[in-house]
Amino acid sequence: KAKADGKGTFRRFDPMLDARVQARRSLEADLRRAITVQEFELHYQPLVDARTGRITAAEALVRWRHPERGLVPPADFIPLAEETGLIGPLGQWVLRTACTQAARWPSHIRVAVNLSPAQFRDLRLAETVKAALTASGLAADRLELEITEGVLLADEERTLATLTRLRAAGVSISMDDFGTGYSSLSYLRRFPFDKIKVDRSFVRQLPGDPESAAIVRAIITMGACLGMTITVEGVETAEQFAFTAASGCDQVQGYHVSRPLPEAEFLSFVDAREAA
Ligand code: C2E
Ligand code: MG
Ligand code: MG
Ligand code: MG
Repeated sequence: KAKADGKGTFRRFDPMLDARVQARRSLEADLRRAITVQEFELHYQPLVDARTGRITAAEALVRWRHPERGLVPPADFIPLAEETGLIGPLGQWVLRTACTQAARWPSHIRVAVNLSPAQFRDLRLAETVKAALTASGLAADRLELEITEGVLLADEERTLATLTRLRAAGVSISMDDFGTGYSSLSYLRRFPFDKIKVDRSFVRQLPGDPESAAIVRAIITMGACLGMTITVEGVETAEQFAFTAASGCDQVQGYHVSRPLPEAEFLSFVDAREAA
């Protein structure tokens, strides 16, 4: 049985590895198929102004509407998409769809799109983004691109050039999951971010934990001094909301305001909130 398919004799010794390799291959084939038939949807999570409570933006979060597995979260397929290069076409679909949908929203609501490191290494990124804006009619100042430190680890000069071109096109750049990497601070000095999104790991123990409270306050102060907008992510409770708003952050995002919603539900949520 082991040699039947003639691929790698190591399989004979590690049936577990064999199972993993098979599972990965079938997931990859499935993902490739899903991209062709566009089996994905975007859910939107509101970002609210910490002072007024108004919705100012929404983050697009991709889900895979799988025929057998149901709604699959991004953590279960984005890493594989990155490894296999499938993030190219998938990321393109996310960008185009988010811009097209946001173009129909009330014009004070911006849309934030996550970019993976692999997308950022593509030298055509700025052109791809501009093409998505043109095709959708979305104004450039309504698009925010979220990147993590993983993006910046690669070729620094190239990254800076791409960031600069995106900025020149009128798009804003957010540093996502701030504080989770090894050199968050040095990146802030070298790259012109418009926004910092404080990672939810710092929020989890608020407001009771003095260390978390001090760190969140310090990041907010630092961001303000650098002229960057500060969003706090992962705000789940009324107490966390009150603490972060009182600390002077600009925007709040988290389950306390809303979970990510399908577009139609997101738009109803906006209407209900504006009416209130
Ligand atoms: P992220 O960009 O940091 O997105 C925030 C994640 O935190 C989302 O998970 C969101 O549902 C979750 N979240 C929001 N508020 C709360 C809260 O109050 N408590 C808790 N516990 N979680 C909260 P999701 O949708 O599963 O996405 C996970 C990650 O997958 C995202 O993290 C992002 O890195 C990646 N991702 C999502 N969509 C895309 C995409 O279109 N392209 C790329 N490249 N990555 C994506
Ligand atoms: Mg994000
Ligand atoms: Mg984040
Ligand atoms: Mg995250």
